[in-house]
Amino acid sequence: MKDFDFVVLGGGSAGYAAASTAASLGLRVAVVEGGEQVGGLCILRGCMPSKTLLESANRHFAASRAGEFGVLVGSLGFSVEEIHARKERLVEEFAQYRAKQLESGRFEFLRGWAGFVDPHTVEVRMEDGSARRLSAETFLLATGSRVKQVAVPGLAETGYWDSDAVLSQARVPQSVVVLGGGATAVEFAHYYAALGAQVTVIQRSEQLLKEMDADVARALAEAFRKRGIHVYCSTELVRVEPAEGGLKRVLFTQKGATRTVEAEEIVYALGREPQLEGLHLEKAGIETTRGCLAVGPTQQTAVAHIFAAGDVAGPHEIVHIAIQQGELAARNAARLIQGACAGEPPRCLEEIDYRLRLFVIFSHPEIGVAGFTESELQAAEASYRAATYPFDDHGKSMLMGETEGFVKLLASEETGEILGASVVGPHASELIHEIVVALRFRATARQLMEIPHYHPTLSEIWTYPAEELAGGM
Ligand SMILES: Cc1cc2nc3c(=O)[nH]c(=O)nc-3n(C[C@H](O)[C@H](O)[C@H](O)COP(=O)(O)OP(=O)(O)OC[C@H]3O[C@@H](n4cnc5c(N)ncnc54)[C@H](O)[C@@H]3O)c2cc1C
Repeated sequence: MKDFDFVVLGGGSAGYAAASTAASLGLRVAVVEGGEQVGGLCILRGCMPSKTLLESANRHFAASRAGEFGVLVGSLGFSVEEIHARKERLVEEFAQYRAKQLESGRFEFLRGWAGFVDPHTVEVRMEDGSARRLSAETFLLATGSRVKQVAVPGLAETGYWDSDAVLSQARVPQSVVVLGGGATAVEFAHYYAALGAQVTVIQRSEQLLKEMDADVARALAEAFRKRGIHVYCSTELVRVEPAEGGLKRVLFTQKGATRTVEAEEIVYALGREPQLEGLHLEKAGIETTRGCLAVGPTQQTAVAHIFAAGDVAGPHEIVHIAIQQGELAARNAARLIQGACAGEPPRCLEEIDYRLRLFVIFSHPEIGVAGFTESELQAAEASYRAATYPFDDHGKSMLMGETEGFVKLLASEETGEILGASVVGPHASELIHEIVVALRFRATARQLMEIPHYHPTLSEIWTYPAEELAGGM
């Protein structure tokens, strides 16, 4: 008899969701969390602190445009100490709530770092220095991710801020160079620009947000340029070095030309990688390739009773997917333990479905993408139709003074079923959810068009591409 049915390594979003699901299925569960503070990345150093800071920056940005609306705000300013104090208060509140959930008694919660001793046992180095061994029928790796170190000559010596530093430094430099063009990079670029810093973004790929459609990335880059944010794509970093006046210099090449940018601070946003350190996966019989785990659609690793979920598993490092994967892993672990797979593994296990995949980027303009992107449909040679509609021709966005960007709807050529959508524009993070509902119920463009939309709202913008697609079907 093992000590537990399901031992979860990591008490972040994926780990908590999995433990909670497993406990509700009647499994004997333990969660091991080694971090200095309980809460996980999203609460402590990810979504919540970054979006709290952005909320302040967005208000400053909106106030700086108040004159356009006939509103006189007097002299504009901000207190970065107050901005950070508000963030600290909220993060503390969210972290305490998560700690209470983990300590609720529905499962055993241990504070320490865990590593495998053999495929069915982990050893936990407890906070008090003692060690405790836990055996289990099944395990979940939910140990998250860490900043990926990309070798850029001179960067370490010159100094830089990674996302942890950006979120903890109560200082807004006058100028910033952001290395990278992914979600974190463009959110930080917007944050500093909205608080008045001169911002430059240096991206290696040929567009910002390389996984998104080119028209979406172009709309963001254009909006950034209009705000005075310099965006360089298709670049290679050469080196980083100190410059006069305490500045930092970044040298890079772009289409054969060598370029130089100087700024007070460098923000390093070149991505994250799975956190596997100290897990001793080899003792569990799990191999890794270039620091990554192979994880199947059942969330199993190569060792059937060891599951993985969240950032450590990939392929999408976002919270709701970490939760979806964690819950699925817990249900599959229960099936394995209850012998549901006897005779016909692995088809008795549930497989993850990313049909409703959803991404949001909290830049300005915001971006929301649901379902397939157009480039994915093209790569799959799917027969589809696309229709777009710009915010600069839409009543509500015009009266809001938020006319950048567009919406794009993608539907099956044969059936009219909505396959995906993108929004670049005001409240994209909210607008995209209407399409997730449509995708969930496999609605057609015609059905979306027929749903009443109040006037004037941002949401009614969806009816225009829906009408265009319905008209041609
Ligand atoms: C700046 C930033 C902003 C972000 N913004 C968003 C956003 O707006 N929306 C969104 O969806 N996502 C966002 N993300 C991504 C999101 O935070 C992550 O995808 C998510 O938090 C991952 O959850 P997880 O459970 O996989 O990992 P984590 O929450 O990191 O949990 C892993 C836990 O495992 C613990 N651990 C690690 N190793 C061990 C071990 N050996 N033993 C015991 N414990 C261990 C760690 O201490 C940690 O608490 C953001 C990320 C960053 C960096």
